[in-house]
Amino acid sequence: MNKKTITDIDVAGKKVLVRVDFNVPLSSKDPNDDITVTDDTRINAALPTLNYLLDQGASLILCSHLGRPQSAADTQFAMDPVGARLGELLGRRVQKVDEVVGTQATAAAAALQPGDVLLLENTRFEAGEKRNDPELSSQLAALADVYVDDAFGSAHRAHASTEGVAQEMRAKGGPAVAGFLMGKELDALGTAVSNPAHPYVAIMGGAKISDKIKLIDNLLNTADKILIGGGMANTFLAAQGHNLGKSLVESDAIPEAKRLLDMASNQLILPIDVVVADEFSADAVGKVEDVWSISPEKMALDIGPATLDRFNAELQGAQLVIWNGPMGVFEFPNFAEGTNQLALLLAGLVEHGAQVMIGGGDSAAAVHKAGLTAKMTHVSTGGGASLELLEGKTLPGIAALDDK
Ligand code: ADP
Ligand code: MG
Repeated sequence: MNKKTITDIDVAGKKVLVRVDFNVPLSSKDPNDDITVTDDTRINAALPTLNYLLDQGASLILCSHLGRPQSAADTQFAMDPVGARLGELLGRRVQKVDEVVGTQATAAAAALQPGDVLLLENTRFEAGEKRNDPELSSQLAALADVYVDDAFGSAHRAHASTEGVAQEMRAKGGPAVAGFLMGKELDALGTAVSNPAHPYVAIMGGAKISDKIKLIDNLLNTADKILIGGGMANTFLAAQGHNLGKSLVESDAIPEAKRLLDMASNQLILPIDVVVADEFSADAVGKVEDVWSISPEKMALDIGPATLDRFNAELQGAQLVIWNGPMGVFEFPNFAEGTNQLALLLAGLVEHGAQVMIGGGDSAAAVHKAGLTAKMTHVSTGGGASLELLEGKTLPGIAALDDK
């Protein structure tokens, strides 16, 4: 995409405000506990950008949201454990202030020397963050000379620390550019949107059908085939007149599924068999049934082996594959086979030169659980953001950055 990144600007001796995604899992929700970071993947992912900026002679002011605090009183979401872990990973002192903006933050930012790292408090402690309050944005912009956005997962929300601050930085004459993580997401997903290689196969699954049906609509314009599995497939099968038993079906979405099937039945590939169970439980035992003979008292929790064969056949020779949404309830080992086998199949395609991109939080988790993240071309860090980008929407956090 035609957005400037940190390698397009000079940051030596500058104070650089970096919006990172440090929304990491924590060990406790009790503010009286000694809270630690339980998974530092997202902090690690920010290191290339942070180390590059430090090597160039910048000083850093970092900000992120963390969890869903109602206000600054929710101190269990304070950034202190994140700062501690970041300090260990960077091998440098990380100074943390207990506010996002204000006299302390301003004084700490003003005192920064090249190589120094300052971490601001959780941006959602400020009521103005989600409102995209211009006052908060301009106070944030006032702390620094340069704004860098490396939080792709927040780019679909116009918040003060994403969209607003970029506008304010430009208004005062400073650059607002993408970091390496953001740049990688834009390159990978941007290609799929604007210049996809063909054959291009999209795979959709998961559970949020009404949210994602618009994405299918848009993908029909660009992808050659769309394979539909997981909970999503149930609604389409019901739209075809199959009896789905106790399966998850979004009846409100059936008319839209019907419309898509009428419009593009040869592009949409549905399951021919499913793995059913008596109940939604980790202990439930799976049994394969054809989609036209699902037992009324059972629910479909995974795609079946004949469907996997069919999907495999459709995927042969594909040059670009986008996958969003697990093929089944992968959290239960008895119903993870479809998702795991598909992930293996896709890893094989990458070895043969295809580009395979994964979007969606649970899909990324499933691929990670299967140990195949490194085998994919790109696993997006942004669930909602990646979907909106693939839907062809403009993401406010990205639109606000400087054009090349
Ligand atoms: P993503 O986060 O990748 O965008 P979703 O949030 O849409 O994906 O869907 C993920 C969820 O869908 C998982 O928790 C999984 O258990 C569930 N799921 C997949 N297939 C089924 C199914 N057949 N019935 C019920 N839930 C399903
Ligand atoms: Mg999800």
